[in-house]
Amino acid sequence: MEKVGNVLINLMQDLSRYSTNGSAHIKINRSMCKPEQFKALFNHFTRGTILERIELDVEELETYVNCSCGYNQTFERDEHAGYTRCPRCGKFAEVVDRPYELVSPDPSKAGLRTNIRFS
Ligand SMILES: [Zn+2]
Repeated sequence: MEKVGNVLINLMQDLSRYSTNGSAHIKINRSMCKPEQFKALFNHFTRGTILERIELDVEELETYVNCSCGYNQTFERDEHAGYTRCPRCGKFAEVVDRPYELVSPDPSKAGLRTNIRFS
C-alpha cells in the first residue's frame, strides 16, 4: 500500500498532464485515507500551483476481487497478498487494490494539456 503523500504526488502529476476543464473526479482507497481528508490535503498542497483552481471531487475506492469467471465484488479484508480464492469458482482471483483511480479526466480519453493556464 502506498503512502498518501505518494498518491498526492502521482495525482498532481496526472492532473498537470491532462486537460481538466477546471474540475477533476477521483476515487481514493478507503484503506488509505478518507475522501474529505484527501481533498483537504490536495487543496493545501496545490496552493500556488497551476492546479490550485481545480475543483476536486473525491469518492471512496473499494478494494475488489476480479476473477476470470466474472466474479467482481468488494473485498472486505485489509490484508491480502494480491490474490485470493474466488468465492464463486474457487480459482485464484486478483485482488484489485489501487491506491487511487482517476475517474475524470479519464486518462484513456483526455487530451494532453496544451495550455498551462486555466480559463
Ligand atoms: Zn471465479
